[in-house]
Formats: sequence, C-alpha cells, structure tokens
Amino acid sequence: MAVLAARIGDWRGRRLHVAPASKFGWSGHLVVRGARADMLVYDDSATGLYGRHGFLHELGHLVLDHDGVTFDPATTAAADVARRLADRIGYANQEERDAELWATLVGLDTIGPSPGD
Ligand SMILES: [Zn+2]
Repeated sequence: MAVLAARIGDWRGRRLHVAPASKFGWSGHLVVRGARADMLVYDDSATGLYGRHGFLHELGHLVLDHDGVTFDPATTAAADVARRLADRIGYANQEERDAELWATLVGLDTIGPSPGD
C-alpha cells in the first residue's frame, strides 16, 4: 500500500506522506491536503480488508481530486470544523460514494473476486 501511495503521489506531482493514526493518538482514516504535500493517515487498528479498504478510500479522494473539507485552521472555529467533517461521515455526500466505489474497484483488481464468486 505504501508503494501505491508513493506512486499516486508521484503521479499527482505532490509528495504523499503516510502515517498511522495511532501516531496521533487517534483511530480512523483521513487524508489532508497541504500547500505543498499531502498526508494520508490510516487506521492502523483496522486490519484485513477493512483496513485496506479504508486506505484505498482515502487514496481515492486524492486520485479523484475531491474538494473535501477545506478550512483555515487559524480562522475556523473547532466546532465548525467538527460539523463540516461530520457531514462527510456516511455516504450522503457524492465524493464519499465515489471514493468508496474507487476503493472497491481497485481492491477487486488487486485481490480478485472472493473464492466463492
Ligand atoms: Zn471519504
């Protein structure tokens, strides 16, 4: 996954840093786009397909060049940031649905159908 992330960073012409969420005392998947580089934080407490799918979902946001949630940390109130991020939980948002589809298709291409299919 780190190799795929590095290749996507190269393809986008922007360095993509990858870090485990536990490094920040957190769990969950998140991608942060900075001025000169991006960071993908992956949930290292998630294992197997769930962990892999979450990682691919965040890569999908970058590949699909999603707008995501933008704010200036110097001027945006924490409560406003939390509200805007909460709007992205679930799949009501089109970008979330597209990132899910991208992750599913790339995951299937990588691991193939399940043995029962
Ligand atoms: Zn997402």
